[in-house]
Amino acid sequence: MTTRTTRAERLAMPLARAVVRELAVSNGGCVRPVQLRRTDTRTGEVDQVLVPCGHTLASVCPSCAERGKTLRAAQCREGWHLDHEPIVQADEPDEVQRMWVELRAEHQAARDHAQAAGQDTAELDELNAELDEEITGSGVRGKVMPAKTGRRHRSTRRRQDAPDLPRRKIDSATVGKTYTAPDGATFRPSMFLTLTCPSYGCVQDDGTPADPGTYDYQRAVRDAICFAALFDRFVQNLRRVAGYNIQYFAAIEPQRRLAPHVHVAIRGTISRAELRQVLAATYHQVWWPPAVEVKYHDSELPVWHEASGNYLDAATGEVLPTWDQALDALGDDSEPFHVARFGERFDAQGLLAGSRDASRCIGYLTKYLTKYLGDCHQAATGAQAVHADRLVQALRYEPCSSRCANWLRYGIQPKDPRPGLRPGYCRGKAHRREHLGYAGRRVLVSRKWSGKTLADHRADRKRWLLGTLGIPDPDPARHKWEPVTPGDPDHMPPAQRMLHVVADRQRWHAALTEARRRANAPPNLSATGEAAA
Ligand SMILES: [Zn+2]
Ligand SMILES: [Zn+2]
Repeated sequence: MTTRTTRAERLAMPLARAVVRELAVSNGGCVRPVQLRRTDTRTGEVDQVLVPCGHTLASVCPSCAERGKTLRAAQCREGWHLDHEPIVQADEPDEVQRMWVELRAEHQAARDHAQAAGQDTAELDELNAELDEEITGSGVRGKVMPAKTGRRHRSTRRRQDAPDLPRRKIDSATVGKTYTAPDGATFRPSMFLTLTCPSYGCVQDDGTPADPGTYDYQRAVRDAICFAALFDRFVQNLRRVAGYNIQYFAAIEPQRRLAPHVHVAIRGTISRAELRQVLAATYHQVWWPPAVEVKYHDSELPVWHEASGNYLDAATGEVLPTWDQALDALGDDSEPFHVARFGERFDAQGLLAGSRDASRCIGYLTKYLTKYLGDCHQAATGAQAVHADRLVQALRYEPCSSRCANWLRYGIQPKDPRPGLRPGYCRGKAHRREHLGYAGRRVLVSRKWSGKTLADHRADRKRWLLGTLGIPDPDPARHKWEPVTPGDPDHMPPAQRMLHVVADRQRWHAALTEARRRANAPPNLSATGEAAA
């Protein structure tokens, strides 16, 4: 006989799905695996393979995010103190990478066909964009199709107040200098550098402005929006001054005041005096039309004119200036829309390979990678919540890019105008609370850092695992792969996939523990060397 339970008791019981998820996470398994069908081309045998989603946010998939973080730490460690030039060599694509690219080719053909037939390609374009993400996610570098480039190339004018930097010829070397101590020992130090944004007003220990009324929120959000571009400028200038092809691994994070800052691992060292000089000379100018005067408030927004593909003034029917027209209207004496610079204060320290300091710094570099920028510092006080709100408010009507809907507010059509644009509701990443104005990538790695892509580092781990388990590397040409979609008879619903993941993980764990035990056991006691299944 079953025991009677009350509704409250039943509600208090753990939900089966939640328990499975919990179990998957505690076993380091992906909670949203992608199902692929694998056919052995020799035997015709079909099996289902669950590939981890690979998401970098812990709020989406804790296990994949943690694995990604570990991989980034390995990548950072491997490149930081290289004493030889890395060989950048593209690997042969693996089967899964080939599959995505083949799918992409098919869809491109379908899309071009639709376009030739005068059909709407929006949906296919979206699908192709998703496939591009899959291709990148599978570790293929670059894009299948080159991005459309604009015709406009505006020469950036040099500001008078930027000091000229000494320019050395840039050597192609990427490895830092070696120093020799009086006793003959040689060492090759590297650097850990932290760059911050300038001051927007005095802040207190909790990161909130001492005087919120005078804190420059607009400058703060504009700096955040172009932070990655500014960092790019800095690296270019640094290479010029140092005279070699400086390599870096950088992580973007928020400070307590919610402004981005960047931690940078640099191979080789640069003197503090030179750093100061480079920082003083580094700026990024944004040449956009001015967004000062609000031309259209929410009640009188411009309207889309389908026939001409333009936005019109709702009252007069006048066509708003296009993006190119607005840019052309900028005269030689116009001021840039924004000039971003780093703050004067920076932190730099020299480090030696394998030191405890180096490990600690790798910890800093990867600490927040599994969280959104906006989630790194949770507001604990009312003042902190108000500060975060004011930043988001300032971001709301700030143009995030040339395509931003907010340009309509200032009487200008954004680049590539399309129907449905509404100021204050731009879907650009930068406007969202979780991104705090910074829409770029969280980790910026130069091309010759470790000479490997993240996919290479992942392959290293896989090779190590297979080697430890004594499993031979599978023949890459042997299998045919296909994604399994919800309509397919062999499609597994998410809960079933997660159960499989738990079982797989437990099997791997047991096999690995066993392999390690055998490796550590005295030779006469070791097992026969059979491969662990
Ligand atoms: Zn996952
Ligand atoms: Zn926007």
